[in-house]
Amino acid sequence: MPGRHFLQIPGPTPVPDRLLRAMHRAMEDHRSSTFPALTRRILSRLPAVVGQTRGEAFVFPATGSAMWEAALVNTVAPGGRLLAPRFGQFSHLFVQTARNLGYQVDVLEEPWGEAANPAHIEAALAADTAHEIQGVLLVHNETATGVTSDVGAVRAAMDRAGHPALLFVDGVSSIASLAFQFDAWRVDAALTGSQKGFMLPAGLGMLWMSEGAMARVEACPTPRAYFDLRPMRANNAQGYFPSTPALSLLFGLDEALTMLVDEEGMAAVAARHAHLARGVRAAVGAWGLAQCAARPAIASDTVTAVVVPEGADARQVIEAAFTRHDLALGSGLAQLAGKVFRIGHLGDMNELTLAAALAGVEMALHDAGIAVPYGSGVGAALAAWQRGRASA
Ligand SMILES: *Cc1c(COP(=O)(O)O)cnc(C)c1O
Repeated sequence: MPGRHFLQIPGPTPVPDRLLRAMHRAMEDHRSSTFPALTRRILSRLPAVVGQTRGEAFVFPATGSAMWEAALVNTVAPGGRLLAPRFGQFSHLFVQTARNLGYQVDVLEEPWGEAANPAHIEAALAADTAHEIQGVLLVHNETATGVTSDVGAVRAAMDRAGHPALLFVDGVSSIASLAFQFDAWRVDAALTGSQKGFMLPAGLGMLWMSEGAMARVEACPTPRAYFDLRPMRANNAQGYFPSTPALSLLFGLDEALTMLVDEEGMAAVAARHAHLARGVRAAVGAWGLAQCAARPAIASDTVTAVVVPEGADARQVIEAAFTRHDLALGSGLAQLAGKVFRIGHLGDMNELTLAAALAGVEMALHDAGIAVPYGSGVGAALAAWQRGRASA
């Protein structure tokens, strides 16, 4: 189809031309004497993305979910006990990964559409008087339901329980888009992949570790090879990697860090996502549709899961959007299949591209028999953005 394809899923997100150009380069010798400059530019700027001033950051040729494994096998002994709230497909998969690695996971079930409940976490930790629980697994932004949990409140709950468990935070659809305070929340391991807020193709996993988490790495008895942080750390210190780095993606990451950290600034990046999300939520409200997020306070600024009316099939909206309007929307995952479609609004996005995407959603809703008034959502979004600008 002529014109632009609208990749409005919550990852991979559109890759800006500037990053495509940065990656379109010949390969280089990753053992050369000039290579360390690239490694250092990347590793020195990654901490700023998450508000980290102490601890270390790592990059692997991998994806976000691989970093679940990397974080756990470097810090938690085999069979160790973990605690995880579960409220969507990604928090479910984090639990499954930990169980597949042989860990015992106590799951706190929350309704899908809800966030992690700090009081439930506090109670579970307080009940663990022997301090057997080694870590809390938290998905900051549940991409399946469009819900953001309050990491600071979870940390406060852990403090109230006086529990020494590590705090593992999946930030795959939050980092580099939402405000993230690694230091202030005393996160022990934060992780993401390259294809969401970083606006790159998939293929890099990124992991930020606290000093406390790093202190466990050396002595951790868990078998590991590829994800062992010890050789990674030793090589990185010299500006190199233990195996061949994903060089094209590193060229892209270097440029993405320039865009995010040096030029726009992380506070402005988060403010832009919050601003754009207000328009999307206004559109959904004007269509008379509900969000999967149970309460406005927990609605995500990077992805909105829209619930279709009883009797309608969200898959028809997604199919019509894709085949007729060249617009890719996210599907309903697991128990939400057919019930919701998801609008990703993270990464390389502004008001006008998002307005066009919302117009496409309106046409696709009509195609699927959900006759919202044309322009209603787009108009509400534009009004919300203009109001937001006036009050800024
Ligand atoms: C996308 C996503 C993942 C999976 O990341 P991959 O890079 O596909 O492995 C994990 N958690 C959340 C919250 C996500 O949005």
